Amino acid sequence: PDEELAARITASLRDIPDFPEPGVLFKDITPLIGDGALLTQTVTGLARPWHGRVDAVAGLEARGFVFGAAVAVALGVGFVPVRKAGKLPADAVGVDYALEYGTARIEAHADAVPAGARVLVVDDVLATGGTAAAACRLFEQLQAEVVGVDVVIELAALGGRERLPERAVRALLTV
Ligand code: AMP
Repeated sequence: PDEELAARITASLRDIPDFPEPGVLFKDITPLIGDGALLTQTVTGLARPWHGRVDAVAGLEARGFVFGAAVAVALGVGFVPVRKAGKLPADAVGVDYALEYGTARIEAHADAVPAGARVLVVDDVLATGGTAAAACRLFEQLQAEVVGVDVVIELAALGGRERLPERAVRALLTV
């Protein structure tokens, strides 16, 4: 059941205060992905509602690659890496978005998904939602349809869900 999985995820998380900067309580998921049974349960949980409903899974650099690629395998569809600016080798499209200080840019290959593709966006943590919202815009730029945003952990106090009002946002654990 969902509550049992949420409890197992909670027990596995390592909270690191003031990383990578003062004031951030970092949710370290490396113990989770290092536990084979829990990794399997987490990936199964992320994939569960989406069988037959998506054409591609997009993972957000870098921890979204771990969960996203595994969810893609579970769903039998391809995986699309969404990367920080300047990392992709072929023609890329990008979206700039605001951070607390300054801006960031994420990119995907221009031919990553065909027009009309149903894309599921996967990441480890939904915090302010800025990155996930930018990823949604990125796939819409490619004429794809973002069917959902699927994360392991939602940090509710940071308001990510409000940044994604039109999206089906799903978290295995909300804290
Ligand atoms: P945001 O755009 O604010 O939702 O931040 C999302 C990205 O930053 C995700 O890719 C997360 O992996 C990472 N992130 C933000 N806050 C945290 C946190 N407290 N612990 C772990 N990762 C975080």
